[in-house]
Amino acid sequence: MLQHGTRSKIAERAAPHLPFEEFKAESLEALLRLLEKYKVASSKIQFSESESAHSFCQKQLIHILVPFDHYPVNKHVYREVELLYQYCPSCRLAVRVL
Ligand SMILES: [Zn+2]
Repeated sequence: MLQHGTRSKIAERAAPHLPFEEFKAESLEALLRLLEKYKVASSKIQFSESESAHSFCQKQLIHILVPFDHYPVNKHVYREVELLYQYCPSCRLAVRVL
């Protein structure tokens, strides 16, 4: 019989946002704290200033990469992907772009 291991609990944890979903984040620190809960346990969130500007205010965007376990087939088969977020510190607006 198939065993339901501890991994299944993690598998049910969906990505926090849909692609292209926009949401408010009070600060970069607050956003990182939120994403921290979803990243792969042993991994590190990376962020850097991007080349691109926010179309709304023309301020520089911050890119944030979150390593994430993705389960495309079922909850026993997963692969690690990276979620990409952009954050505008001026508008305090974050968007998941990938
Ligand atoms: Zn902006």
